[in-house]
Amino acid sequence: MFTLGVDIGSTTSKCAVLEDGASLTVTSIAVGGMGTRGPQEALDAVLAQAGLTLNDIASVVATGYGRARCPWTELQASELTCHALGAHMVFPGVRTVIDIGGQDAKVIALNGQGRMKSFLMNDKCAAGTGRFLDVMASVLQIPVEELGRRALRSEHPSAVSSTCTVFAESEVISQLANGVDLDDLAAGICASVAARTAALAKRLGVVPPLCMSGGVARNAGVRAALESALGAPVLTSELAQLLGAVGAALYAYRKQH
Ligand code: ADP
Repeated sequence: MFTLGVDIGSTTSKCAVLEDGASLTVTSIAVGGMGTRGPQEALDAVLAQAGLTLNDIASVVATGYGRARCPWTELQASELTCHALGAHMVFPGVRTVIDIGGQDAKVIALNGQGRMKSFLMNDKCAAGTGRFLDVMASVLQIPVEELGRRALRSEHPSAVSSTCTVFAESEVISQLANGVDLDDLAAGICASVAARTAALAKRLGVVPPLCMSGGVARNAGVRAALESALGAPVLTSELAQLLGAVGAALYAYRKQH
């Protein structure tokens, strides 16, 4: 039996197909979240790869910011539930999930069985989210994919101390004008996001093993800075950005049983 999870985020749309709630068949990510062609493109890609049509799917569950407007299902699950389920499937035994997406950051505590115990979220401010990184990458005129690699090369990370994205943008522009090295700025930017998320994690309680989910997990600079701020390894996977969709597909399977 195939189930489909659809995660419609603020910046990307993700799909995952599971077979019998256990084996991950295929996944897809499309640029563009709610209100764009992203969801349709992610769906088309995942079905084409799996060689399936929507008629072959027993159940579809939507999650993410745009879940209420998913055209293919009325079944929804919260992002917290789905990231917890997806993280437990991909990282069995994980106890703390740090999810940094395009417009919010969440820290989720799991019990030993993978159930969510508690969480804390920053959805009030762009600082500490993927949006902050996207804005700063455009100030540096580099793709956001490059920020992490550059940050890891830095030997003297710059300090980006403003806690507001708009002020931090001015701060980075003036450091650029003063000739601060791009790698050092990238490291300061990644460290700033990591510091905010680490503070959230410390408030909730940092119980290892820890993992990252969400698109910012693909930024090795943020992950390294998080590890040093928390003093613990942070697991990641190629599937990190897809954990919400994987969790939604698993939720869809469990709803049938
Ligand atoms: P949402 O679910 O809100 O749409 P995602 O979890 O997909 O957000 O995360 C989007 C964020 O992930 C972007 O804002 C960007 O900063 C980051 N990101 C996405 N792809 C990459 C990549 N290849 N390398 C580094 N960062 C990335």
